[in-house]
Amino acid sequence: MSNYLCVSVTSTRLNCGIVNEKGQILNYHYMYFEDTPKEKNMVNLIERVSRSVSKGYNPTICTVAVPEIVDTVMGLWNSFTNGVGIPLRDSLQKRLGIPVFIDNDVNVAAVGEKYFGSMTYNYNFFYLNVSNGIGGSMYINNRLYRGAHNGAGEIGHIPIEENGEKCYCGNEGCLETIASSVAIQKYYGKLTNDPNPPIYKEIAARARKGDISAIAVFSRAAYALGRTIATILNTTNITRFVIGGTVGMEFDLLEAKIYETISKFALKTPNFDFKITKTTIGYDAALIGCAAYCLIISNNPDVYATLAKKGV
Ligand SMILES: [Zn+2]
Repeated sequence: MSNYLCVSVTSTRLNCGIVNEKGQILNYHYMYFEDTPKEKNMVNLIERVSRSVSKGYNPTICTVAVPEIVDTVMGLWNSFTNGVGIPLRDSLQKRLGIPVFIDNDVNVAAVGEKYFGSMTYNYNFFYLNVSNGIGGSMYINNRLYRGAHNGAGEIGHIPIEENGEKCYCGNEGCLETIASSVAIQKYYGKLTNDPNPPIYKEIAARARKGDISAIAVFSRAAYALGRTIATILNTTNITRFVIGGTVGMEFDLLEAKIYETISKFALKTPNFDFKITKTTIGYDAALIGCAAYCLIISNNPDVYATLAKKGV
């Protein structure tokens, strides 16, 4: 059985795992960083952690999941914060000496849900990742849909609020400024006049205990997510949704308000059977997704060459 080197990068964490063909994590290392490291440091870090996690497992192939836009064919990472055209794939391939592939983290999570999760038999579904960033990914007619320039599914930047919070993308009032873990923490601080509010997880725990401010913060986030999902329903008529990510995993606090908002804004006749479920993979969605990615590529060498045209 082959082992795969699976790497997921978020704005605060680097996760490296060895995952086998069955999607089982055999070894796992991670590290936190204050700011996402710049290109050279990022390559150095991934190499260091990858070498340490790989010892004794001999991975044959590697997939790296990163946030924001990825040109999967050229192997380039186009990041809002780190710069455009970073040749992450080729740099890592040289260092690690095995084939490396990169893709957007939410695309990778959707591939994981398709191959190891709850969407195996679904030809059309939308994966929503709600964490410290918010992104989406969609399977249409059983293929991952990437858009003209790999930008499909960037729902975190759908405008929700007039004159809202400034977003790092340059606009204001984006979904991400309302429903991300960072936004939840910030708004809770505002409601409670706390300059050092707790992180989203503690706010979620308080909401479950009946804290009115914590409930209000999650309700506001759920309303924004509901409006976004209603827009996706009215645009694509994809009626199956999977929600994941750190905030998405608190789905019990969001579910009722999301459904109520969707019922208000989405067209009923074509979307009568819409359904949202929590990811069955959990917090390891990106790592397991990387393994699914490696599996597909190892079983079909032509796939990579045509990724941009066809999707996985
Ligand atoms: Zn934005």
